[in-house]
Amino acid sequence: MSRLYESMFRSVLYPAYESGLMRRGTLRYLREYEDNQWLSADEILAMQWRKLEALLDYCWEHVPYYRGRWRELGIERGDIRCMEDYASLPVLGKDEIRAHADDFLPRRPAQAILFKATSGSTGEPLRVGFTRESYERRIAVMYRGYGWSGGHHGRRTLYLWGQPAGGMGWKERMYQAAFQRRTLNAFTMTTERMPEYADAFDRFQPRVVVSYVAPIVRMARWLLDQGRVPHRPEVILSAAEALHEGERAVVEQAFGCPVQNTYGCREFMLIAAECPHRGGLHVNADHLVVELAGGNGGAADLVVTDLHNYGMPLLRYANGDMARPGGGSCACGRGLPKIASVEGRKLDVLQSADGRQVFGEHIVYAFLGTSGVDQWQVVQDAPDAWDVYLVPGSGFGQESIDRIASALRPACGEGTALRFHVREAIALTPAGKRRPTINNIAAGGTG
Ligand SMILES: [Zn+2]
Repeated sequence: MSRLYESMFRSVLYPAYESGLMRRGTLRYLREYEDNQWLSADEILAMQWRKLEALLDYCWEHVPYYRGRWRELGIERGDIRCMEDYASLPVLGKDEIRAHADDFLPRRPAQAILFKATSGSTGEPLRVGFTRESYERRIAVMYRGYGWSGGHHGRRTLYLWGQPAGGMGWKERMYQAAFQRRTLNAFTMTTERMPEYADAFDRFQPRVVVSYVAPIVRMARWLLDQGRVPHRPEVILSAAEALHEGERAVVEQAFGCPVQNTYGCREFMLIAAECPHRGGLHVNADHLVVELAGGNGGAADLVVTDLHNYGMPLLRYANGDMARPGGGSCACGRGLPKIASVEGRKLDVLQSADGRQVFGEHIVYAFLGTSGVDQWQVVQDAPDAWDVYLVPGSGFGQESIDRIASALRPACGEGTALRFHVREAIALTPAGKRRPTINNIAAGGTG
């Protein structure tokens, strides 16, 4: 593309695109959501129910999967009268959607349906449909949530984020130039290349940083090790998974600014975000239904419904992440409910050589209080062996490995080989999430 065109694009074409396509929808929705957040908790629940009723009605009328499934379950139209009724409907998993993909699409959609693929742990992507309206609303909800911590749209923002192989297309590059955004690829960041990343960070001088948790923690540890003081942004927004308090402290120390956690997934974009009062993440309950299923007060499966996606309605979709309930009302005055914390990826169940199922929590327990290890992951590719990947921290040594081996032994039994591998980093999923346990031999991973 010629330089002239680039500059014209930046000054004329893209802003026109944004004010034409984006502003009309996104900015109107943003105003709507900005107003919603100050309603009382009860008013928000009432609004959520009205939106859900409309969506359920639409599913009865137009979406073959639900009509068929509900008839099988003996549910008649009008039977779902309140949120408790809704919560008794079956949870939807990726396998079910894959098996009946076309039946989730409305027979005569009112709007065009766009598609995107989500990653699966089994490597088999899931195609989810959505309408332009639902996409614009998702962007609006994201702007609102980032804005709570000062990450307003249009501020000079650096993304430490995953990029698909082949990099960005020209539209994306132009968009970034026009809107003062820059992306550093989190997936190609290594310790060797860290000075390059830190230099790019300092050169760009972002006011806002948006990053997956793991790479920003890694960069922060490196900066502290080097004694290097980076450019100081106003806020760092961590995304996609759990942010442990120890990690928050490390990043805040390294960059000298607050770190605010947000949580989302590819299927729905932003689901919840911290406001400056913290004490949990506000859920976008005026846009989604977010349920915590099972768990008995502890970490539970996240079950999500997008109230505005009429392109491929997913009712009670389990996205494979877990969260803890709680939080109560917030001093900021927003009526949006809270979840206490996001626990991240649901853990895969592993197997021992003697045929027992070993729950992921059991493995997590074995690593508790282990010093000298920054990150870990246990992967099963064969029935009689576990591969344990470790990222060494300060004080790491053979002793750390011995301690972990003896802590894991009761879980895996005598017959299971434990193979230790020391790595510089643990690979993230394409959506930027960490997976502590991975079982590659069991059917139906958790995605
Ligand atoms: Zn708040």
